[in-house]
Amino acid sequence: MLADKDRIFRNLYGQHDWALKGARARGAWDGTKAILEKGRDAIIEEVKTSGLRGRGGAGFPTGLKWSFMPKKSDGRPQYLVVNADESEPGTCKDREIMRHDPHLLVEGCLIAGFAMGANVGYIYVRGEFIRERERVQAAIDEAYEAKLIGKNNVNGWDFDLYVHHGAGAYICGEETALLESLEGKKGQPRLKPPFPANVGLYGCPTTVQNVESIAVVPDIMRRGASWFAGIGRPNNTGTKLFCISGHVEKPCNVEEAMGIPLRELLETHAGGVRGGWDNLLAVIPGGSSMPLVPAGKDWADSLVMDFDGCRDKKSALGTAAVIVMDKSTDIVRAMARISYFYKHESCGQCTPCREGMGWMWRVLTRMAEGRAQKREIDMLMQVTQQIEGHTICAFGDGAAWPVQGLLRHFRPEIERRIDEYSRNSHTQGAVREAAE
Ligand code: SF4
Repeated sequence: MLADKDRIFRNLYGQHDWALKGARARGAWDGTKAILEKGRDAIIEEVKTSGLRGRGGAGFPTGLKWSFMPKKSDGRPQYLVVNADESEPGTCKDREIMRHDPHLLVEGCLIAGFAMGANVGYIYVRGEFIRERERVQAAIDEAYEAKLIGKNNVNGWDFDLYVHHGAGAYICGEETALLESLEGKKGQPRLKPPFPANVGLYGCPTTVQNVESIAVVPDIMRRGASWFAGIGRPNNTGTKLFCISGHVEKPCNVEEAMGIPLRELLETHAGGVRGGWDNLLAVIPGGSSMPLVPAGKDWADSLVMDFDGCRDKKSALGTAAVIVMDKSTDIVRAMARISYFYKHESCGQCTPCREGMGWMWRVLTRMAEGRAQKREIDMLMQVTQQIEGHTICAFGDGAAWPVQGLLRHFRPEIERRIDEYSRNSHTQGAVREAAE
């Protein structure tokens, strides 16, 4: 369990002052100038040594990503863009940072902006996050007022920070769709390459980074990379915000050490599974676009909540949004509902995604009632495989994986429904014939 002294987000639940005075009392903006004086390369090296991996879902090493930005400008401006479009079902962590600890984010933007040679940063906030956008803006205004950011600020790196409010499309959380949207266009992902570090916002070098990844950077710089790297396991270091929802006694957000076993995470912070562990059906460990992991003997201890631990269970940590489903869940219907979400949110550029999403949703809806043929189970798996890896962006994969997880682990349940439906149809037919 994470020691209190190792927590980065000390106002996660909004019990204290979110504003500059309160944030400063918790350590924010402490020695920021000295951090910048270490130089760009030293900051990037420190972030690399800390082992920080992106907290937005993909888990790409953060320091490495920053190092892709050109060291010398070719005359084009360079940009930092913060992805605050948190839309993955089950995920609600960046929201809490923006609400209750926005100064960690603003300070992180300055440090990250300096490290990648950006004098301008944008925070792209999800359309539904009205209050969060207002809070982040208020924190930015305070930082300008105190000359912590802006031109000729006390920290010695000119840095302007703007908040941009999205319109609520899930796909704008994909980094290149986010850039399109920020430029005022329809939020549709771009083909890569070129990658944003070369051609990003307005055709200029850009790094897009998740809110949590940026907000932890000031603490890494203050406390040192070895402190952060000492938490968790190699390749899976640091603390992480977990969003625990579904059939637990006390759904919550909590900051914990990476690598905590699922059982410890749920029992320590969420009061355990509703009705006890024997009542558990499955867990989605990383947000709705990740494959589910079915309950099994002793698996809650062996499901280690970090990137490698979830991969070992054929799932992924994603955004660490743990969705718990007990035995009262209609698992086929639940997956059909998730498919409906992705069908609705597909941007429609790629045929496999645009057509496949609706196809998967319609078949799963029939399967939930048993109104299907058994051969359609394999056919559905084939469809997911024809979507996976054949689209412009990772949305296609993220929509196919939950369906694959269902088919991998709950095939007997789908077959049982098909058998039951066919039995009932025959019985009803016989009753009708007898009546005639
Ligand atoms: Fe759009 Fe889907 Fe293609 Fe992504 S995979 S670009 S969401 S159609």
